[in-house]
Amino acid sequence: MHRSTSSQSKIEKQLERARRIRAMRKAFNLVKKRQRANAGRISDLEGRKSRLRKTREISVGNRTLLNKAIESLRENGIKVQLAHTREEAISLVMNELAGNRLLVKSKSNVTKEIGLTKTLTAAGIEVIETDIGDRILQLCGDVPSHPTGPASHLTRHEIADVLSTHFNKRVEPKAEAIVGLLRQEISTYLYEAAVGITGANAVAAEEGAVLLVHNEGNIIEVATRPEKHIVLAGIDKIYPCIEEALNMVKLQTFYATGSVSTSFINIISGPSQTADIEKQLIKGVHGAREICLILVDNHRSNIADSEYRELLYCIGCGQCLLTCPAYSVYGNSFGMESQLGGRGVVYSLLAEEVPGDALPAAYNSKYDSLDICLSCRKCQRNCPLAIDTPSIITRLRLQNRKAVLGPYLQAAYDFINSHVKWIGTAIWLESLLLVSSLIRHGKS
Ligand code: SF4
Repeated sequence: MHRSTSSQSKIEKQLERARRIRAMRKAFNLVKKRQRANAGRISDLEGRKSRLRKTREISVGNRTLLNKAIESLRENGIKVQLAHTREEAISLVMNELAGNRLLVKSKSNVTKEIGLTKTLTAAGIEVIETDIGDRILQLCGDVPSHPTGPASHLTRHEIADVLSTHFNKRVEPKAEAIVGLLRQEISTYLYEAAVGITGANAVAAEEGAVLLVHNEGNIIEVATRPEKHIVLAGIDKIYPCIEEALNMVKLQTFYATGSVSTSFINIISGPSQTADIEKQLIKGVHGAREICLILVDNHRSNIADSEYRELLYCIGCGQCLLTCPAYSVYGNSFGMESQLGGRGVVYSLLAEEVPGDALPAAYNSKYDSLDICLSCRKCQRNCPLAIDTPSIITRLRLQNRKAVLGPYLQAAYDFINSHVKWIGTAIWLESLLLVSSLIRHGKS
């Protein structure tokens, strides 16, 4: 009796996973459709891509540019600190919080990378995600499936179930109702919070400015909490000037969402202040009195100086995930927490300590994640920066194997092994989806 209940729940979990992958594919297909429709509306798309590639080549790991950015930001009244490790970054955030027990937060990959929310929560600080997708994941206790559409894999029914428990009332499985409820809840926290933390899409060195890009309008709310705006950004986010940063934003928006422009681009180059009364400088009017930027290294300098430097050219648009056949079958288990797909896996192997309990169930060791890649090169061909992730995966695979086979035989073995696994998983997934549809039709 007990055994049949546990195998039933195992199947239920597998069905749920299959439904999530179907929801993710549906969301990804919508983005691809929008990209096809809008590609002609972006002037000189190819020219913009090669301009961005050149910008990243000169900016990544460029210490002179980093120092110039720090100088300009400080001249503009922004407090800048450098964190070499994840521990240092977390401790700097803790210091900046100065006893505040509530922190509103917007989407930021670097906060996920350093495990900020987990550590702050364990220290008794309430951290509230203000991006709708991230708030949903926070309430579900789930990990993202796309850098800018983190909850793409969840259906409105699943979300409504979780919210019904959270709000202790029945929530209708309708997108508008879900967003309305979350907006109301997030507004309450925004009103209460004195400090907000955001990431940064780019930092412009010449002007000493931080660029924030969003569609929901939440980021500017977080950034204008009265006491302090903490910005956490990787040192790879430095661009020579605002114009080059905007070229990246244009491409990032198009590849992440399929849209030609994002709803909001905020360029922040100093704290809120006025000198309107007898020229006395008063800090804090409608925005934060203080802005503190924490630039996180966390292995980036080492990667920038290594043969893997190209990984840091990534602008986080998620285009590689949209086109990766392995990701379309394995979903976000082809990744490590928030580092998704082939590029995410190699980045986390090089830059992060991945604790055993954070590994997806399919992996015995973090290097197992490399076996999933099919070496098809679709990610590279579709990446706006043409990042050669497949070659990096092949190199890392060879480095982490016992040298039994020579490189060519090993590559052939890896190719066959990954395809056998992929075909098997794809067939199993389609069977589960068929069962799921039969169950649904049976119920209706
Ligand atoms: S080469 Fe690997 S990571 Fe890139 S698209 Fe193919 S399967 Fe995905």
